[in-house]
Amino acid sequence: MARYGRTRGEGRSCTFCDKPERVVRHLISGPPGIYICDACVELCNQIIRLDKNKSGAAGTPEGAAPAAGAKAAPAANVAQSVKTLPTPAEIKTKLDEYVVGQERTKKSLAVAVNLHYKRILNPIPANEVELEKSNILLIGPTGSGKTLLARTLAKILNVPFAIGDATTLTEAGYVGEDVENLLLKLIHNANYNLDRAERGIVFIDEIDKIGRTQNNPSITRDVSGEGVQQGLLKMLEGTVSNVPPQGGRKHPEQEYIQINTRHILFIGGGSFEALPGIIARRIGKKQIGFKTDADEIDEKNIGDLLEKVEPEDLIEFGMIPEFVGRFPVICVCRPLSLEQLVKVLTEPKNAIVRQYQEFFRMENSTLVFTDEALKEIARRGLEKQTGARALRSTIEQMMLDVLFELPAHKEATEYTVTGEMAKGTEPIVPKRRAEGKGEGKGEKAEKEKEKKKESA
Ligand code: ADP
Repeated sequence: MARYGRTRGEGRSCTFCDKPERVVRHLISGPPGIYICDACVELCNQIIRLDKNKSGAAGTPEGAAPAAGAKAAPAANVAQSVKTLPTPAEIKTKLDEYVVGQERTKKSLAVAVNLHYKRILNPIPANEVELEKSNILLIGPTGSGKTLLARTLAKILNVPFAIGDATTLTEAGYVGEDVENLLLKLIHNANYNLDRAERGIVFIDEIDKIGRTQNNPSITRDVSGEGVQQGLLKMLEGTVSNVPPQGGRKHPEQEYIQINTRHILFIGGGSFEALPGIIARRIGKKQIGFKTDADEIDEKNIGDLLEKVEPEDLIEFGMIPEFVGRFPVICVCRPLSLEQLVKVLTEPKNAIVRQYQEFFRMENSTLVFTDEALKEIARRGLEKQTGARALRSTIEQMMLDVLFELPAHKEATEYTVTGEMAKGTEPIVPKRRAEGKGEGKGEKAEKEKEKKKESA
């Protein structure tokens, strides 16, 4: 058949999709003349998993919401599930364990997310009040914790989470990813349990890059980005989306996974770089004496300006009104200060310094950073203007040689990284051999040997 460029008389092919043996990874044979390829086996597995989940779906392990579109649960069940939902205060406390600063945003997110899941748990409001879906827009500079917040929320609520990048999305018909692929990631992360996927969280990063006025570097995508915004509208509001099970483009002959997005929480994130200027100009028009000059906008007042954002500013930025309307909750992540960057290095549960100290402990050694060293690392992060993003790579580069040599040290070793060492003006060398603080691997083995000799 011409479809896969097969030449006449060519050997075996998949009975299901007709791909010849040479283009598939595995071809499994059945009764004479019947074959199935690995891709078709995977597809069959997905279909079986989906069916299984549909039939035995009632279980909601995390005690969260029933499936989208599900019938109203009995009042007692709803009350029980609402009880297991973390309160805004509990959500905020958990967020504090991972995210430095952004106090107001953590509070707003905690409330918004709690309300979102409460709304799902009460599918039919008793008093006919329509509870609107409230997707969240997170605005703030790179490396201020937008993705971290979204990811941590999903962790706290124990719901599936998927991240997508708006810049890879395209209007239907253009080369690039379809918006449905975002949902496929979510379904995949929910282990093909549609019930769970339908109340998951999708984080769409770089949402500002699909603004109308943005210059678009890609020639394969629609020039304005407006088409992508249009393409996302339905999904954001709530619709039954047809998702191609293997990703990529939709194909008319394909069987789709149908997923209802009504209860999926969408969080859009973006740096919206020109936004502070737009806000300043708007305020300046109304408020005499307020600085409106773009030059006056610096790291310190970006946060203050962003907190005054109104939907009209986002529309002026280039988002279409309907799109802005789909994000009723707007939260701001402020640029992190030097002190906050130092905290990012040391305080969160998974702080990079704590992780490095753990590596050293595994090697029976210790690692300490002086305050000056931490400030120096944070200062370098600030210089790069990528918020907390640069911290990890800065430490990684700084510690490379030490980590390279550390496992070779036979005895316990103590490192104290000073400000000078962090600056690179002094090499990072062990402060002293730690005496009596435990023995190195080699040393311990030697002593064992000696002991054995003596007893023999
Ligand atoms: P954004 O999405 O705002 O560009 P990310 O959330 O991806 O930034 O942050 C990049 C990295 O920096 C994260 O992995 C996280 O470790 C760290 N980080 C950023 N902001 C914070 C914060 N406020 N508190 C703790 N860590 C942070």
